[in-house]
Amino acid sequence: MSATGAGRPLLEVTDLKKYFPIRRGVFSRISGWVRAVDGVSLRIAPGETLALVGESGSGKTTTGRCILRLLEPTSGRVVFDGTDLLSLPARAMRRMRRQIQVVFQDPYGSLNPRMRVGTIVREPFDIHRIGANRRERDEMVAALLRRVGLDPGMRDRYPHEFSGGQRQRIGVARALALRPRLIVADEPVSSLDVSVQAQVINLFIDLQEEFRIAYLFIAHDLAVVERIADRVAVMYLGQIVEVAARGEIFRNPLHPYTRALLQAIPIPDPARARERQVLRGDPPSPAQPPPGCRFHTRCPSAVEACPRIEPPLLEVTPGHWVACHLHPGPEVGR
Ligand code: SF4
Repeated sequence: MSATGAGRPLLEVTDLKKYFPIRRGVFSRISGWVRAVDGVSLRIAPGETLALVGESGSGKTTTGRCILRLLEPTSGRVVFDGTDLLSLPARAMRRMRRQIQVVFQDPYGSLNPRMRVGTIVREPFDIHRIGANRRERDEMVAALLRRVGLDPGMRDRYPHEFSGGQRQRIGVARALALRPRLIVADEPVSSLDVSVQAQVINLFIDLQEEFRIAYLFIAHDLAVVERIADRVAVMYLGQIVEVAARGEIFRNPLHPYTRALLQAIPIPDPARARERQVLRGDPPSPAQPPPGCRFHTRCPSAVEACPRIEPPLLEVTPGHWVACHLHPGPEVGR
């Protein structure tokens, strides 16, 4: 079973798990496991944006890192354009990284502070020997900087000389250099001011239209993905609890957790204000997820079955998947 996207997938993730060992004592014996990602399945079509949304600790960043193989998953399958990434030797995976790039949350921490910006953006060309010579590569760097809205004349400056938004544009230029087909954008605007967030999201949207890039766009806030997402997958404690097209998620959220995330979005117009349903408490530890539905300890709608029986992710209407006992539906395979 999988929460499917339309069309032939560019990326298909099946039953992905990443467990981290908890070690105790002088012999560092394993005393338990943190189930950071616990059976995630998703698909992304070419040129599509799937937003992966959830609170911190939900496993969304770990999911992205496992897809990129910056972390080795415990189990599962990650197939990119027909190739099983998890069985690729390191060298073949490095070649594959031309097609799958990443933009990190912290644009300062992810850029080498001792390198000039021109060198940072040129590095992928140097590593993959793209361009006939240094001059041609420098011209490509200038074109990339221009494309992300930066003055190529600033290429000799260092990252600390740029604002947060500009630094994120540098990160995007670098990710774009090898013309990837998929970018994993891990909270790329979370550290930016709201006004700058909108500009950087516009940049992502423009680049997608121009280059038909697919995005796995990771965010902890549904408001951030409202403009960019084609579909939204909501994660809670290592699992996907709801997936639907963007409009459907915002108009007709079914999972109580998705509703709580939506109600956390500030709404300036009081006429549109919804009845607020504030999330109670912090998420439980992924080392000891609650039995049954993992959300039952915080759910305002829990029923008798919730602490006992884990609800499967079911397709309740075409393209709308939800894991909640309040929304039983026919289980549909792919
Ligand atoms: Fe709430 Fe029960 Fe649905 Fe879980 S299964 S979200 S606890 S109603």
